[in-house]
Amino acid sequence: MTTHAPTDPGHAGPEIEFPEVRVNLRMPNNPCTGKVVSSELCTQRKAAGFVRHIAIDVSGTELEGNLLPGQSFGVLAPGNADNGKPHKPRLFSVASPSKGEDGQGRVIATTVKRLVDEHWTDHTLYHGVCSNYLCNLQPGDEVRLSGPNGKRFLLPKDPHKYNYLFFATGTGIAPFRGMALDLLDAGVASHIHLFMGAPYASDLLYHPHWLDLAQKHDNFHYTPALSRERQADGRDPMYVHNRIGTELDRILPALAADNTLIYICGVAGMELGVFQELAKHLSPTQLKNYLLVDPEAMGDIPNWNRRMIHQQLKPTKRLLMEVYA
Ligand code: FAD
Repeated sequence: MTTHAPTDPGHAGPEIEFPEVRVNLRMPNNPCTGKVVSSELCTQRKAAGFVRHIAIDVSGTELEGNLLPGQSFGVLAPGNADNGKPHKPRLFSVASPSKGEDGQGRVIATTVKRLVDEHWTDHTLYHGVCSNYLCNLQPGDEVRLSGPNGKRFLLPKDPHKYNYLFFATGTGIAPFRGMALDLLDAGVASHIHLFMGAPYASDLLYHPHWLDLAQKHDNFHYTPALSRERQADGRDPMYVHNRIGTELDRILPALAADNTLIYICGVAGMELGVFQELAKHLSPTQLKNYLLVDPEAMGDIPNWNRRMIHQQLKPTKRLLMEVYA
């Protein structure tokens, strides 16, 4: 996973204040123990993959009250890797709000996709070590944890000052679950737009939850994008970044405002599509609030590639992203 610090803090308006967070209170060589409270599928009907919302009681540990959405924590699977050494920790994003699932910071949650693949060598079934370990755990089981990790992908200290555009693919939705709950709980009146990309409707994570929030809060807008089937409204398959074009009338006021933050989280590569769509649809003045583009690159948007990020394409402090392979 890469968390990108804004590369041009001088642009895009006044400094944005983020909360101080505590990191590495427990290191992987000295983990604490949490207890699984619940584990529920968060995909729809017959999805091809399995993604679970897993809640873990961390009361009495250093993680209690110290994990914000946008941060992650480490999970230590028991046993050894092929090299005979204990499995390395894997990081999982916090999906719970700042106050935890329980309102007291004692129960944290994450969104875990079972990694299932074929072995490179003999095409037998390969189960990712930690994701399957976590997804197999039952309520009451203990799990070794480290963290917190990460301090750059956070909501601002004063959430009321900003509008929010969230772009998620896959388990990249995890931080936005916690963030949306935090924002709505704080009574933020500004606009919160959540765009969630998935191959099929059955893969949309927390879908009923988002529909429910959108129904209850006029300022919360939820727009899925399906890449391998038609949209609910009959539109052709599209990626999450294409929603910038289809929803432009609705989101342009927010994008053009000087107090909007864009967050991107999910599969590495998705950020490039968002950049290209922003460049296509925003005026040069609007674009530079989020992305500083080398003038030469501006003439060749369709051929942008990921290697250009931080070189010819520099996200400003108003565009935060965390992407992983
Ligand atoms: P591993 O056993 O580590 O396998 C990993 C990869 O290696 C797979 O692609 C697998 O195909 C390949 N591989 C390894 N050995 C073989 C082999 N012999 N044959 C074939 N293929 C092989 N994940 C989530 O689900 N939810 C989250 O919220 C989340 N948040 C994250 C936050 C951060 C900051 C980071 C860095 C990662 C996050 N991840 C998240 C990813 C997570 O940390 C793990 O990488 C993921 O769950 C896979 O771990 P695993 O132990 O199950 O798989």
